[in-house]
Amino acid sequence: MQILVTGGAGYIGSHTVVELLAQGHEVVVLDDLSNASAEALRRVGEIAGREVELLEVDVTDEAAVLAALEGARPEAVVHFAALKAVGESVEQPERYYRTNVGGTLNLVRAMDAVGCRTLVFSSSATVYGAATQMPLTEDSPLGATNPYGWTKFMTEQVLRDVAASDERWSVALLRYFNPVGAHPSGRIGEDPRGVPNNLVPFIAQVAVGRREQLTVFGDDFDTPDGTGVRDYIHVVDLAEGHVAALAKISGPDGVRGAHAWNLGTGTGSSVRQVVAAFERASGREVPVRVAPRRAGDVATSYADPARARDELGWTARRGLDEMCEDTWRWQSGNPQGYATS
Ligand code: UDP
Repeated sequence: MQILVTGGAGYIGSHTVVELLAQGHEVVVLDDLSNASAEALRRVGEIAGREVELLEVDVTDEAAVLAALEGARPEAVVHFAALKAVGESVEQPERYYRTNVGGTLNLVRAMDAVGCRTLVFSSSATVYGAATQMPLTEDSPLGATNPYGWTKFMTEQVLRDVAASDERWSVALLRYFNPVGAHPSGRIGEDPRGVPNNLVPFIAQVAVGRREQLTVFGDDFDTPDGTGVRDYIHVVDLAEGHVAALAKISGPDGVRGAHAWNLGTGTGSSVRQVVAAFERASGREVPVRVAPRRAGDVATSYADPARARDELGWTARRGLDEMCEDTWRWQSGNPQGYATS
């Protein structure tokens, strides 16, 4: 298939492009490079053995999105392009709604105009809000605790309504848990700008010597060791989940309508367990200090991944050690990310 991947130069997008190319699909990437790098895409081309075309387009530019779709004529779209920093979304909510919700509206209109109505959407377990009943199934109550979360919640609702209005649409809402790890080649990985917000990139930068120590946000949660528990999923497993979802919703026999699938492992790991696994993988010590809880953090979050297993035939196969080993191969080989390596 001819596939347009928005945000394909970013962390999860670049790994997904690798898997799509490996499956024989043709890929065009739409990305404004605001939190991604053309170098990532060059390396994707190296891994795959063929170059990937990049359209440098901002999803909030409606005319440019339409022109991109008219040029690329995709049979399906995988939509990653969005802003994703929780704290920043509290400071700049309008920008988050405009990019994440408005960008998706532009995309939907352009897809409709060119007759492409097969869409895989990058959602998040953040749509379960402050839920405490674990594991989270796709039928768990939805909510949000910050503007970023609301943008995912609202975009899902937009896509459900669009799919309900016209039976030609097929939409996969993929709810990611905590993506970590890197391609096993060590050539592509997560390259956050500024101070990392997420646990594993922060630990990786401590291990490689870019930062002094990890701040553990709370060790008084109701969890086995007191630190927060999350469902970390290897980014290559996640990428494979997109390929499986696309297969499920495309072609003449593809399921129509909008469907949500959790992409997680079903297993939770605590902050201390992740630190220990990373120390084993890297052979480096990761000093920590404990600080108060971060606003909005729940004690525990993990998926029930049964629906994706049963309906997509997909299961996450890579464990925490492999996640840390692959992150370390990427981080140690590219200590400054894509910038100077
Ligand atoms: N965390 C931490 N220190 C950090 C970043 C994160 O202790 O510098 C903890 C956080 O409180 C949570 C877990 O690590 O329990 C995962 O956080 P992350 O931001 O990676 O993902 P989230 O689940 O919050 O989306």
